[in-house]
Amino acid sequence: MKTALVTGAAKGIGRAIAMALAREGFRVALHYRSSGNEAESAAAEIHAAGGEAELFAADLADAAQAEALVKSVEQRCGPVHTLVCNAGIIKSQLLAFTSYADWRAVMAANLDAAFLLTKAVSRGMARQRAGRIIYISSDAGLMGDLMRGAYSASKSGLFGLAKTAAREMAASRVTVNTVAPGIIETDMTAEMPETRRVKQLAAIPLNRFGRPEEVAAAVRFLASDAAAWITGQTVCVDGGLRMRD
Ligand code: NAP
Repeated sequence: MKTALVTGAAKGIGRAIAMALAREGFRVALHYRSSGNEAESAAAEIHAAGGEAELFAADLADAAQAEALVKSVEQRCGPVHTLVCNAGIIKSQLLAFTSYADWRAVMAANLDAAFLLTKAVSRGMARQRAGRIIYISSDAGLMGDLMRGAYSASKSGLFGLAKTAAREMAASRVTVNTVAPGIIETDMTAEMPETRRVKQLAAIPLNRFGRPEEVAAAVRFLASDAAAWITGQTVCVDGGLRMRD
């Protein structure tokens, strides 16, 4: 049974990805930071459906914890076949008022962690001569976004990381891709002001926000054998938003 490590898997998009990969037959290493109860309920749901899931806690903004996470997963679940870097935070502020501490916090959780986890799984994947790495970026990483300077920069960074890792790991038959969701209904977008909600909806050709399961479907495909010849790509799951550029 292949192991998939999904970060931020207790809720939202990460939880939907964990469920989709469990249904696909992966043993899921369910990572969480503070949402322990939600992580336990996600694992229970996977077990109830006959799947396998193990829980792992770590603050990925802490480099030592990010590196230790992969070692723990390998010890308890065996080599990581699929890494999904989904955990992330957003801080909304004009660039002129963004503190360096907030900039660093967003970079650490969204981009530094992806680098550290990629590095930590890369040797094992090279030894197995198989593997999938999938980063959850954002439309903000492609287009930029008002009040989201740190977030957009961190999410853009994932594209450069993915393309470099894709080139370096191709000889080991490891593929590295990025999924860029548009607006998805989760806790992260729950507090959106009504005026912004209306404006955003008007910009989406399919005229609705997305569901976590719709992002998970793209990840599930990229993790599958069917996607073995796709690497260094970005899949936009955004109701057509990016098509307008
Ligand atoms: P969410 O419900 O807020 O989930 C984010 C997850 O990230 C949480 O489960 C959280 O874990 C984890 N996390 C945050 N900081 C962490 C840290 N320092 N260490 C470890 N885990 C950390 O958000 P979501 O909407 O599902 O977002 C998932 C991903 O999709 C994010 O990378 C986000 O940027 C991206 N995305 C979301 C949207 C959207 O519209 N929702 C659009 C584009 C991209 P705990 O709860 O356990 O603390």
